[in-house]
Parts: sequence; structure tokens; C-alpha cells
Amino acid sequence: MDYSHNMIRKFRERGLKITPQRLAIFNLLDGNTGHPTAEEIYSGLKKDFPNLSFTTVYNILKSIKEAGGIQELLIERERAHYDPDVSLHHHIICTRCGKLRDIFYTNTSEMRLPDDILKEFSVTGHQIHFYGVCRACSENEEEEEGKTAVPREGANAN
Ligand code: ZN
Ligand code: MN
Repeated sequence: MDYSHNMIRKFRERGLKITPQRLAIFNLLDGNTGHPTAEEIYSGLKKDFPNLSFTTVYNILKSIKEAGGIQELLIERERAHYDPDVSLHHHIICTRCGKLRDIFYTNTSEMRLPDDILKEFSVTGHQIHFYGVCRACSENEEEEEGKTAVPREGANAN
């Protein structure tokens, strides 16, 4: 509940009203480690708020982001994922099934950027996306390959 309380306070500070829809999104994000997309958040609330529009959900997420309550992960081209954990950490996604996991390895903050970059930018943050194939997907793939590699009995007879 700390997250929701925090967000209520942050929204009030910014002069934003706590509507039932906003509160529902705070509660949905509270402790959520699933990195939901806006679409998933929308379908998660549709039952309780039949009149809720996708645009409203999107705008609420935008306000939460502006209040510093979520990270928007642009790890996939097609859709953003939302993470209420705004601490420094990175992510890996399976390029086959979209499984997304946290990487809590923060030594990346010690990475020294080239001088010309440091002259031109004052760095305020960074985030690294890793891409790979998860174990379940690579095992499935091996199975599929096994199936095609072994000719079925009598396959050549016809
Ligand atoms: Zn996978
Ligand atoms: Mn995360």
C-alpha cells in the first residue's frame, strides 16, 4: 500500500484529483513486478470500470510517469511496458514469447562514457535492454526441430 499512498500524495501535490480510476491504477501497480503494458492495465480494470477508455488509462499512466511513479520501458517496438520500480535496474526480454525479467545489476553506473559525450551531455540516467530467448522457448524449439528431423515411419512409402 505504500506505493498507492505515495502516489496519492504526489498527485495531490500536483493538484490532481484522486479519481476511482486513478486509485485503481495505483493499486494495480502497487508491488507489480509483471511490467504490464497499457493494454494489460486497461483490460485488468475493464471489469470494474466498464466505461473506462483506453485513452484515460494511457493519460493516467502519463501523469504517473510525470510524477515519477513509473518507468516506461521501451524494450519492444510495438508496446511500452510500465514498471512501478523506478530504481536503477535493467531488463531482459525473450524475443519469442515476450517474457520480461528484471536485472538488478547496477555496476553499469560506473561505466565511463567517452569524453566527447560527457562534454556535450550531462547524463541524468541510463537503462540497458537485453534481448534473448528464454529457456522454455529454446526447449520448444529443440522439440520442434526434433520432430522435423526424424522422418515419420512410412513417410517415404507413399
Ligand atoms: Zn520465451
Ligand atoms: Mn523492472
